[in-house]
Amino acid sequence: MRLTRMFAVSMAILALLVGAMLGRILWGEWNSYRAARGGLHALQLVQQGMVAAEKLSFERGPMNAVLGDAVPPDPAKRARLAVARAASDQALDSLAAALAASQDQSATVTSIRAQLIAARREVDAVSALPPAQRTPQRLTAAVEGMFALIPVVLDDVTGYAGAAEQAYPNLAKILMKARFAVELREYAGRLGSRLTVALASGQPLAETEHTQIQFLRGQIEQLRHLIVMSTSAIDRDPRVLAALRTMDERYFTSGLALVTGVERDSRAHQPYGMDTAQFAQRYVPFMSPILAVRDVLLEAALDQARQDYDTAQRELLLACLTGGAIVLAMMLLMVILQKRVMVPLARTTRALVKLGNGDFSIRVHETRRHDEIGDLLRAVGQLRAAGLEKQQLEQERQRLIEELRLRADTDYLTGILNRRAFTAAGNQRLRRAREHRLALAVILFDVDRFKAVNDSHGHDAGDQVLIRIAALAREQLRDGEILARYGGEEFVIMPGNCDLEGARVVAERMRRAIEAAPLTLANGHVLHVTASFGVAASEGPHLALDSLFHAADLALYRAKHQGRNRVECEAA
Ligand code: GH3
Ligand code: MG
Ligand code: MG
Repeated sequence: MRLTRMFAVSMAILALLVGAMLGRILWGEWNSYRAARGGLHALQLVQQGMVAAEKLSFERGPMNAVLGDAVPPDPAKRARLAVARAASDQALDSLAAALAASQDQSATVTSIRAQLIAARREVDAVSALPPAQRTPQRLTAAVEGMFALIPVVLDDVTGYAGAAEQAYPNLAKILMKARFAVELREYAGRLGSRLTVALASGQPLAETEHTQIQFLRGQIEQLRHLIVMSTSAIDRDPRVLAALRTMDERYFTSGLALVTGVERDSRAHQPYGMDTAQFAQRYVPFMSPILAVRDVLLEAALDQARQDYDTAQRELLLACLTGGAIVLAMMLLMVILQKRVMVPLARTTRALVKLGNGDFSIRVHETRRHDEIGDLLRAVGQLRAAGLEKQQLEQERQRLIEELRLRADTDYLTGILNRRAFTAAGNQRLRRAREHRLALAVILFDVDRFKAVNDSHGHDAGDQVLIRIAALAREQLRDGEILARYGGEEFVIMPGNCDLEGARVVAERMRRAIEAAPLTLANGHVLHVTASFGVAASEGPHLALDSLFHAADLALYRAKHQGRNRVECEAA
């Protein structure tokens, strides 16, 4: 697998794993946060539910006063009842609003309201009757209607408390105690209500009522025990301890003593010395510390829950920030690795492969980086420079070799081939002629009376003559015809495959061209130069360069002897 691909795949796997891990952590933190938020809200519902229960309990005090009212009715009692009812309604409204805010079902609040309206209607109906018609049965029915509401509200409270406990299991005991406090307040209220009928009618308590009062006292004592019993750290909270003390002093001492007094008077058949309203006025304030206990316990639980909620919120935030930082760091690392390692590495690899193939056209990026990749890029740059230098040296060497070869084959004065090169080229032509059984001809020519040119006009003038004749001869030749300086003022031509007659025509043309081209020397003197030609040709398997030259030489000798400036032929 290519490194770049492996890098991409490993990064993708790493990103996936880290993403999954972060997702799990964040999901866990989010759930804890949600549970804490839900728990806190449930706890607030518990508090509001308990307040609603309390207000409904409290409403029974003014209700009892109105039920025991004489004719004409006392408007102050009615007004107190109206205030108490408004307080209950408000508590139920806040509970309904809190439930609606959490998109919870507030159906129970609606049904409690309906039940409450029915119960109040019964109370109003009974209190509208003349006192004589307010039979104990009707009075009891009216009071029971209001009593029945409390368990319903408390059932709801139990539900909210369950939800809160799920989020905060350590608050279960404290919520239970708050609930006991509410129940205690309820039973304390009922205890007071049990005296209503007797106080309203001025009659002694019936024996069943005495029994019920005893039963209620037992329950109240049991609830007190459950509340006071130490179960968790919150119980040792100074606020809680102070509230318990006040409850003992106010309700369990003074409040219960008031009830005991009424019971005693009832048994002794003595007047009570107070009516229902007066009793309520004295008894109700003794119950307030019970609710203070509830409030203190709930406040402590709420404090604890708020702390837990804050911690969950902080931890969620921390997890989000850490997760974000990890993702950011990973992305940064990927980008850095990609930009600073993978891309330069791939580029360098391509460059090295090209360098290895002798291609120096690659661009090596200048870098001032002081890391390994920087070192690598610089090394590649140096390698390229060294390779380039080597390549240039090699080219120079080749050029020099070429030049040397050219010089070795070229006559320094005239620029045409020298004898050595002619021999090599001639042998090649000879082989081909033998192979294809072609005719091969050689033309030798020698400048006439050249010594005299030297003697009369100087060596330089002689050189000019040689240069000029070489140029003239070259002009007369076609492709494939070889011209060389054979030595001194002697030249040789090998025409393209032609027989003796063909070669003679070439020689004749050459002779005439030399004869017809006078040369103006630097000193202004015009020189007429001629040359003598010896032509030889042959064909067949026994063709040899030596014998050709020999025959051409003989012909040239003859041309000189027969008067120069002429062409003589000789078959080889
Ligand atoms: P002929 O017609 O019989 O050939 O007479 P010739 O004078 O040309 O013959 P000879 O062989 O006596 O003279 C050749 C002269 O050519 C002698 C030599 O000084 C001269 N020579 C040979 N090579 C060069 C050269 O490269 N430059 C010059 N200027 N002269 C050369
Ligand atoms: Mg000569
Ligand atoms: Mg000569």
